[in-house]
Amino acid sequence: MTRLVQLVRCFPRGHLLACFALVAILGTALFSLADTQAGSDTATVAPRPLELPAPTPRLQAEVPSTAQAPAAPVWDWRELTVASGDTLSGLLQGEGVTPGDVHRLVTADDRLKTLTRIRPGDVLRVALDEDGKLVALEHKVSLIESLHAELTEEGWQVTEQVREFERQMRYAEATITDSLFLSAQRAGLTDNMIMQLVNIFAWDIDFVLDIRAGDSFKVLYEELFLDGEKVGVGNIALAEFNNRSRNLTAYRYETSAGDVEFLDTNGNSLRRAFIRTPVEFARISSRFNPNRRHPVLNTIRAHRGVDYAAPTGTPIRASGDGRVEFVGVKGGYGNTVVIRHGQQYSTLYAHMHRFASGIRPGVRVRQGQTIGTVGMTGLATGPHLHYEFLVNGVHRDPLTVQLPKAQGVSDQERQQFLVYANRLRNQMALHAEAFTLAQNFH
Ligand SMILES: [Zn+2]
Repeated sequence: MTRLVQLVRCFPRGHLLACFALVAILGTALFSLADTQAGSDTATVAPRPLELPAPTPRLQAEVPSTAQAPAAPVWDWRELTVASGDTLSGLLQGEGVTPGDVHRLVTADDRLKTLTRIRPGDVLRVALDEDGKLVALEHKVSLIESLHAELTEEGWQVTEQVREFERQMRYAEATITDSLFLSAQRAGLTDNMIMQLVNIFAWDIDFVLDIRAGDSFKVLYEELFLDGEKVGVGNIALAEFNNRSRNLTAYRYETSAGDVEFLDTNGNSLRRAFIRTPVEFARISSRFNPNRRHPVLNTIRAHRGVDYAAPTGTPIRASGDGRVEFVGVKGGYGNTVVIRHGQQYSTLYAHMHRFASGIRPGVRVRQGQTIGTVGMTGLATGPHLHYEFLVNGVHRDPLTVQLPKAQGVSDQERQQFLVYANRLRNQMALHAEAFTLAQNFH
């Protein structure tokens, strides 16, 4: 995470956005891990919070403790702690399990493949029957996920259990004196939270150029607990950023369709419908130019897109939400993907090395989703992405075209969002008041 923070300091905005899309995706999957390690230093951010009602509890998964797992009384349960250099096969063979049985176990179900990636410190519980045959196994995959496998007459049956974190709202605020990062760190934000904050406002604030001393922010965010113990930091629920006397507000809102969006006070999206640059850390090797001499054909031929030079295999991201319209070879464009984004817009990605799995005509893609990799198929002198942006069927310069705002909350959900936003705002106001009171006592 620290490395990402450094990237933010030194890379221009186009790269940032692509990078953030990735971070957003990774972050969702990894925040618990990342912040579990770094998280315990944030307890001193704000005074103890007011006794506020906890946010509406999410569905609590019933999590049977491992002791209650169904097991025949004759089974012999053993706990194995993975040490450095251990393999699943070695560990189980140490318990008398045959290599053939290990193979049958890990190939029985895709979810059991994770067993081949066990890490030092992981704990496995295995059960053997009276003949010493492996009949059940449990693996704690993360703080909240565990996998239970049991051998039945039909073979290995796998169940996954996911616990829910208990969540508590916390508050932090800071006025920027030197850099956003130092000020945010002093206010107790973890690197992960700083990335979230930057990501949320990256569409409106250029964090490399726009930040000034005197800018300030407030965040209401979740702390995560398991069995009453703090284990990390979750999402920013509400953020306000005062940048050069502009006031920006963002509410994290999960739509009934399950999409997470950051919305302003009226329910409009903060993000644009398109990211400017569909490849990260690439160099522009050729611009939009109606009168270009083609490097391979050596004739005057309009260059109706932008070329991004990047090593073969570099991921290419969908620049906006949409539906795949074309996947395949398109003459000199080589391997090409075309995505349609609503009525007006479409984007084209050419010279690709590979298509990502599942990218087929008709499939829905999300902004930032990897659709394939950079290559040099078709007429190309080196690996690059040729990227086109069309508005109503007309080619526009992808670097300068005005990018529309993404759609905000739907009309059906707007009322519900406004109520939710109001509640968050009140929570933040109470926290801010308590924070100020505590400051004055010091
Ligand atoms: Zn090109």
